[in-house]
Amino acid sequence: MISKKYSLKPLLLLGTLAGISVHAIAAGGSAKAAGAINGDELLQHIKVLASDDFEGRGPASNGEVKTVTYITEQFKKLGLAPGNPDGSYVQKVPLLGTTSAPTLSLNVGGKEQKLRYPDEFVAWSPQAQSNIKIDQSELVFVGYGVIAPEYHWDDYKGMDLKSKTLVMLINDPAIPDPKNPSQLDPKMFKGKEMTYYGRWTYKFEMAAKLGAAAALIVHETKPASYPYEVVKNSWGRENFSIYDPAGNPDFPAVPGWMPVERAKELFSVSGLDFDAMKKAALSRDFKPVKMGVTASYAVSNKINQVESNNVVARIEGSDPALKDEYIIYTAHWDHLGINEALPGPRTGKIYHGALDNASGVASLLELAKAYKALPVAPKRSILFIATTSEEQGLLGARYYARNPLYPLAKTLIDINIDGINPWGKTKDVKIIGYGKSSADDLVRKVAKTQGRTTSSEAHPESGGFYRGDQFEFAKVGVPVIYASSGTQFIGKSPKFALEKSEDYTAHSYHKVSDVVNKDWDFGGVVEDMRMLFEAGYEVAQGKAKPEWKADAEFKAARDSSQQAAGKPVGTGSQ
Ligand SMILES: [Zn+2]
Repeated sequence: MISKKYSLKPLLLLGTLAGISVHAIAAGGSAKAAGAINGDELLQHIKVLASDDFEGRGPASNGEVKTVTYITEQFKKLGLAPGNPDGSYVQKVPLLGTTSAPTLSLNVGGKEQKLRYPDEFVAWSPQAQSNIKIDQSELVFVGYGVIAPEYHWDDYKGMDLKSKTLVMLINDPAIPDPKNPSQLDPKMFKGKEMTYYGRWTYKFEMAAKLGAAAALIVHETKPASYPYEVVKNSWGRENFSIYDPAGNPDFPAVPGWMPVERAKELFSVSGLDFDAMKKAALSRDFKPVKMGVTASYAVSNKINQVESNNVVARIEGSDPALKDEYIIYTAHWDHLGINEALPGPRTGKIYHGALDNASGVASLLELAKAYKALPVAPKRSILFIATTSEEQGLLGARYYARNPLYPLAKTLIDINIDGINPWGKTKDVKIIGYGKSSADDLVRKVAKTQGRTTSSEAHPESGGFYRGDQFEFAKVGVPVIYASSGTQFIGKSPKFALEKSEDYTAHSYHKVSDVVNKDWDFGGVVEDMRMLFEAGYEVAQGKAKPEWKADAEFKAARDSSQQAAGKPVGTGSQ
């Protein structure tokens, strides 16, 4: 359904008849191949993947079997080679599914208080044990729970927190700018932008690292940038983690959340004021505060050890010297599956995930088609990975990053697609994670050929960079691109973008209602995918070699993987 806004329609028709697009007529080679990217076919893939038949694409479910088979078949049909050196189109990802039924009681001044699950707390235990019991674990408020040497920040001050329950704030410290207190200090935790220290994954990783028995993150909608309902939805069901016989290094025995209203009560029975404590946590001098309350947990786990799959396909590079270097495109295929507890007909129980992320997988297939439409394969090789279990914590991408099929030091970039713009063409492009690497220049250059400007994301405070698969690649040093249409929609009111994204977050994000919409306009996404095609192709041809900026938190990881591979270390792009 390409939009009527294309004034080039007659030309388009002409071009399509000849099997090439206007785009191609204009610029030759890669532009011609980019012309193969087609909105109608993209929509067809979305319709299939988001249909009831695919059952919301839950990992290790019937939906997975259908999804992995479909994507593999499409890659084969396009003529792509198996992406796994073992000759297969999959990378097996060992997962541990745990369905936790937790109880939590607080002992306040000798009196037991049993909390209501999931309204007063959610908790689970991503450990391969059927019963986890923790008695009388002392609650300690640790503020934001951050250790950030670059900001001379340490919320723990060396306190021994083994077997304690850490009560933690979500997001990172919002430090007012001393020169202008109405603004945040851009030199501290990147001001308005969320840093990794603000992510729930970081909080639980720290609790695990410090040997805490449990951690309770206080949920506040604004700093979390999603309502408590999302937390209840996400954690009140089977959860997966990467199966590690040695135990899960990313979580304490019992991670959990508590809604702010309930947390305020907890602080007050501890003789503390939540708002005052939150203020105290904004200082470098903050010290952990014992709350004089203990918590006892009993978690019974239904254990489900399964295997899921990253789907991997490859286009071998044409240059003998460069074909062992890789450009990776990723998009997660998984979504939230089926919730039988939801009322009404079957379709109302299925999390269709049309935008999240059937659209990304569809785009991956269209990008693969464009690369296959090139008269000559690119010099370097292209790897397409449809990752599993992104919704469970970026697990498929994390597993690939920890078990790469091709050397990370020879992986030049990861271009991730998670959600697309279905609302038409824009004058601008937004780059999520703007300012971290020279990949920005590459996107800017290609967007310019489309007459589009580039900028950073509209809401850096929501930490979008840390909430997608690109983050797992960045963590191991691979430069990344995560960019798509901006907010200046052609022919729409300036408020249009915000209205659409707020409507999506409120009514579709992680809900069964994330379905194909009849008034979608794919003019924007087709332009975005042609942009990401050209950007990857530039790297594949050696016209660009993205590098982290000198102050980027991921440069150290890149340097060490380059050194380990005996490669020269970059000075860091300016
Ligand atoms: Zn997603």
